[in-house]
Amino acid sequence: MSIRVKLYLSYVAMVFLPMVLILSFVVFLLYAGGMQDLREYFRVEKEEKTNQSLIYGELKYVIENDTDKLSSPGYIEDLQRRLAEQWAGIIFAKDEVITDVPLFLKELSPHEDWQALFNESPDAVSFKAFKFQINEISFQYPDGHSGQMLLLRRYDVVPPLWRPVGALIFSAVVGLTSLLLTYFVSRSIFRPIHALKTAALQIKDGDLSQQVVVRSKGEVGQLAAAFEAMRIQLKESIDQSLQYEENRKQLLSHISHDLKTPISAIKGYVEGIMDGIANTDEKRQRYMETIYHKANDMDQLIDELFLFSKLDLHKVAFDFKTIDMTKYLEHFLDEQRFDLEKSGVWLSFESFSDQPLLIAADPDKLGRVLTNILNNSEKYMSQLPVSADKRVRVSVWERGDHVLVAIEDSGPGIEKEDLPYIFDRFYRAEQSRNSETGGSGLGLAIVKQIIEGHGGKVWAENVEAGGARFCLLLPKALPVRTVTEHEEHINH
Ligand code: ADP
Repeated sequence: MSIRVKLYLSYVAMVFLPMVLILSFVVFLLYAGGMQDLREYFRVEKEEKTNQSLIYGELKYVIENDTDKLSSPGYIEDLQRRLAEQWAGIIFAKDEVITDVPLFLKELSPHEDWQALFNESPDAVSFKAFKFQINEISFQYPDGHSGQMLLLRRYDVVPPLWRPVGALIFSAVVGLTSLLLTYFVSRSIFRPIHALKTAALQIKDGDLSQQVVVRSKGEVGQLAAAFEAMRIQLKESIDQSLQYEENRKQLLSHISHDLKTPISAIKGYVEGIMDGIANTDEKRQRYMETIYHKANDMDQLIDELFLFSKLDLHKVAFDFKTIDMTKYLEHFLDEQRFDLEKSGVWLSFESFSDQPLLIAADPDKLGRVLTNILNNSEKYMSQLPVSADKRVRVSVWERGDHVLVAIEDSGPGIEKEDLPYIFDRFYRAEQSRNSETGGSGLGLAIVKQIIEGHGGKVWAENVEAGGARFCLLLPKALPVRTVTEHEEHINH
């Protein structure tokens, strides 16, 4: 529920809930007090005063015209009964001495000193929480004695204390309900905000691993979801920069190692020549050749490193052209065939599409990709015995809106545990981590960078019959729309 709706509902509840509670309370009180019908209560309240007035009228007449009746116990008893029904009664006195006290008053206040009350004759008196108004009337008995009446009538149907108590209860109920509602509503808002605050503090302290769990929906829930998304994003970017940092360190250590090894070798051979260890022309020639090869290796490594770092920093501009992959591969492999055959490698090419397979590619960079893969195949197949069948099969076909190129060799294949890492920079499977195979460990990393720069994907797998297979998946070029005759005439 949104905060706005929650607040609206709580305001409405603050107004209506106390009313409902008070009403229920009053109804309960009336019910408990024997007044089962509320209408009865109001009828009594309304009629009590009218009925009292009627009896007073009658009494006035009796006092003025028929005082005989006041000496008749039967009439007095009937009068007191009728008055009692209307919560009124008369204390009669003859010559200032009380002669009759209404029964219902005696019941209301059994220990009352009625004579004292009579002598005092106050304006009002309270019996059992009810307030009675007192009026004194004097008259003359027919026998000449002076008579006095104290007329007591209930002032208010509701006991006087009830009104302030009722108001107090009402205020308490209103206050309590608003207090409780405010507490629950604010708790439902502040709790998730508190959870967010805790999460924010954790993030401030660098702990990004704690998930922000806020169950509430509405605005705070949305805020928490945005916060959680931010935390994940932040964590990813921090993890990524840590990874970059780690990669950079590794790269530095690999570069220094890979440069140090040939340089130490070159130094050793040069010293050998200078110290006269290479004391024959043949030896000197061999030393010089080794120095040349080592320098060549270094040159190649530096070249690859340079290209790789430029690719890594996205500083290499791709010169995209729309090319037909089948034609391109045919042409490229024709050029490679001769060199490969010299090393005893048989190269074949097959296209499984009779349509031109158009892709947007930088032909030079793509050439670099293929060279690196073919060089690897040649390099790892050269480890096989001379009699072994050395083949490289290149095939191309259409796969949805992509073109798939597979380069398969009949070499030793790649160890299963190495497969996920061979495209990482400087990764070399253990068996090839020796100077014989050479290689910078950057060849496939460069392949990956270039293919991804083309919006494609590259992966390696092993061929069941033995050997490695490298797959390049490249997106097809979008069809170029030819300008229609109509458009040609539009003056741009
Ligand atoms: P390297 O310079 O060591 O060849 P690459 O990045 O070109 O580095 O290749 C990474 C690793 O992948 C190699 O060390 C090798 O273990 C494996 N690899 C690459 N191509 C082949 C292949 N055709 N056959 C077997 N293993 C290969």
